[in-house]
Order: sequence, then C-alpha cells, then structure tokens
Amino acid sequence: MKIMSVKGFHDVLPDESARWQWIEQQAREVFARYAFAEVRIPIVERTELFSRSIGETTDIVEKEMYTFTDRDGSSLTLRPEGTASIVRAYVEHALNQREAVSKLFYFGPMFRRERPQKGRLRQFSQVGAEVIGRDDAATDAEVLLLLHDLLSRLQVSGAQIELNSLGCFACRPAYRAALLAYGEAHRQVLCENCSRRLERNPLRLLDCKDRACRESTADAPVMIDYLCTPCRAHFDTVCALLAREGVEPRLNRRMVRGLDYYCRTAFEVVAEGLGAQNAVGGGGRYDGLVKALGGPDAPGIGFALGVERLVLAVADHEAARPSLPEVFIAPMGSAAEAEAMHLAHRWRCDGMRVEMASGGKSLKSQMRLADKVGSPYVLILGEDELAAQVLTVRDMVAKRDFPRVVALSSSATALRQALVQLTSAAVEQHA
Ligand code: AMP
Repeated sequence: MKIMSVKGFHDVLPDESARWQWIEQQAREVFARYAFAEVRIPIVERTELFSRSIGETTDIVEKEMYTFTDRDGSSLTLRPEGTASIVRAYVEHALNQREAVSKLFYFGPMFRRERPQKGRLRQFSQVGAEVIGRDDAATDAEVLLLLHDLLSRLQVSGAQIELNSLGCFACRPAYRAALLAYGEAHRQVLCENCSRRLERNPLRLLDCKDRACRESTADAPVMIDYLCTPCRAHFDTVCALLAREGVEPRLNRRMVRGLDYYCRTAFEVVAEGLGAQNAVGGGGRYDGLVKALGGPDAPGIGFALGVERLVLAVADHEAARPSLPEVFIAPMGSAAEAEAMHLAHRWRCDGMRVEMASGGKSLKSQMRLADKVGSPYVLILGEDELAAQVLTVRDMVAKRDFPRVVALSSSATALRQALVQLTSAAVEQHA
C-alpha cells in the first residue's frame, strides 16, 4: 500500500519549487539592500519560549502547537512562528553587545495544527524580518518600506498593506477596560470562544473569525481612538514618512494581530485571488518581548510573509519558471551514447544546461522527450555524425534540421554561438 503525506503537510514539486526559489531570491536581494543579515533558527524550541512570548490565551498556544515530550522529559515544540526564536537567539548570543541594532531575516517552515483548507496548512513556510534595538518611528517606516518594496518586486496581485496602532503599556489598559465593558454588555451575542476569553483577553474580540460575532461587535471601541500622545505622535510620524515615499497603507482600525506581544505599529498584508485566506503576511512592534524573554530592554519590530500564499499571489514571471535545458543530446547506438555522456559532462562543467537521453531509445521517442523537457535544440549524434565527429542540430521551435554543423570538440561557448548563428541565418533566409 502507498504511504501518503500527512494531512496539512504538502510536497512542493518541481513545477512550483522554481517559483519558491525565485521568491526567496527576490527577498534576499531586498534584504541585502536594507542591510539585513540572515539567521538560521532551529525548528524545535522549548515549549516555554512560545507560551511566554505568543501568549497563553492565543489560538496558537491554546490549541495549535505541535508539542511533544522528549525522552529526557522536556517539553519541546515545532516552532509555530519565527519571531520568538529570533528573539531567543538574540538574547542567547547577546547580539546587543555586538551591534547597536540587529537587522535580521529568516526563511523556513512553521507548524500550526489548524484546520487545513486552501491557503491554510499545518506546515507552511514564512519569510520574515526583524529589527531589534530601535523604537523610533523611522525604524517602523523603514520596515514597512522594505515590505512595500518586496511586494512590488514580487508583483503580488492586489497587495495592500493595512496599518493600525495597538497603543502601549500606558494607553492600552484604558482601552482594554472599555473593550471589556463593551464585551460584557454584548456577551449574549458573542461566540463561545470570545465569551470564554473575554476577561483574559478582550482584544481577541476584534480578531474573531465568526461572522455573527464580527457583525455584532461592529461598533466596538477601537484602540486608535484611545492612543496616548506619544503613541499618536509615533503613528502619525510613521504615516508621514511613508507618505513621503508614496506609500499609503490603509488604516484598519479593527486589526489587533493574533499574538500578545505586539504594541504600537501593527500591520497586515492582504492580496487578491487567495479566497478566504487573503492575508499574505503581518507584523508589528514588540517592545516588551526581548525583556520578557530574559534579555535587555530592547525594542523590536518585524513581519512575516507566508510563502505558500505568495506563490499563489505573485504574477507569472518568466524567471520564476523552472530553467529549461539549452540543448538535448539524442545519441543513436551505444558508442554514440557513451560520447553523448562525455559531451554532456564537458558542457555541463562549462556551465551549460544540458539534458540527454540514454537507454537506446529511438530518435522519435528522444524527440518527444526533448519536446517535453522544453529544450529549444536537439543535438543528434548518429553513427554518421560520430564518424565525422560532428552533430546534427534540430531547431525545435522552427522545426528545421541543420545536418552535421557543430563539431564534437566545440566548447560550450562555441556551441552557443553556433546555435544562435544557425537560428538567425534561418530566420534571414526565411525572410
Ligand atoms: P502570522 O504569523 O499568523 O501573522 O502569519 C503570517 C503569515 O503566515 C500569514 O499572513 C500567512 O500568509 C502565513 N500563514 C499563517 N498561518 C498559515 C497556515 N496555517 N498556512 C499557510 N500560511 C499561513
């Protein structure tokens, strides 16, 4: 019996993996421009790292973590997100003593036991960035500009950054109290989850996915109306700095983000064509997190984008397709096959993308194969060609043969030149 993959855990096949690589390349390029450096964080962490940072009353910690007891009795968890691990690494390696500000990025799989559906998996990948060590509005604007540049570069269809402020430890308590009072007054219309979590975490009220619950809390108080003067100034400066660069995020007054550690600037990215799961990413400021995880009192801000959703939302760029062979060698007979292997190896070492058939296939089936792998040229090596030490070229696009035109001794560069010349001469002749 076949063994199938686990529900919510997907393979990325070659058709799609080229797009993944392309997205990663674009992200690396943008991160380099903004002077971010990569951190490779482990997949497994101590469970406590997430319960202490993400928050005990969040969906992730309450019911979505893949947690197991290791043989020594310690509780370990497959990371559900990257920020906690980055902060753990920052604290563990005292990065604050090496640099005034740390600008870090990461790629990799995350694990959450959610109900799988289109755009929602149990293993998914994120690309994320964090800036630790600065709390000014300019840093928030820089992170948002980076995000904006990356989305533009990827041409994510209908990408829109939504922005909000979640206040700080000074102004949030008054807002929390107002929201709690509102929730208590509306308790009979709240969903079971919101009702249960109301006292412990009233902010979740605005984040609820339940439609009836959302509708009945449409007029709930929002944080942005409760900001203290410094938080308001911070928010206004972020918006002004972005506006100067022509970037105008949409204000989303109900956005609270799913995790407990956020304060002040919070944002999400939505895109078109993704169905119900239209968020491609999100992030925000987390000024108390580093300290809460045993580090210095260093502020931070960051974001994460979901790669599977980006793959669905990015335009179809030629560069994001799998790279095709430049030539396909079709040998006829065992002596030619051995020679073809040698040629392929030589040209591959020279940097050329070469494919070949083996196993004594007929010319017809080799042509079919060459067509299938998308090679623009087939180099035919039959007995006659082998004797004369030349190759016959078939132009697969123009469907034309050029008998015995390329010497076996050609370098990859000479071969490329010869192919270009043959094609252009044929085009001229045709004209
Ligand atoms: P979050 O860490 O929850 O803010 O998520 C950031 C981004 O990661 C989301 O906008 C999605 O693009 C992606 N993401 C989160 N959870 C999942 C999931 N279960 N499956 C696929 N992508 C996800």
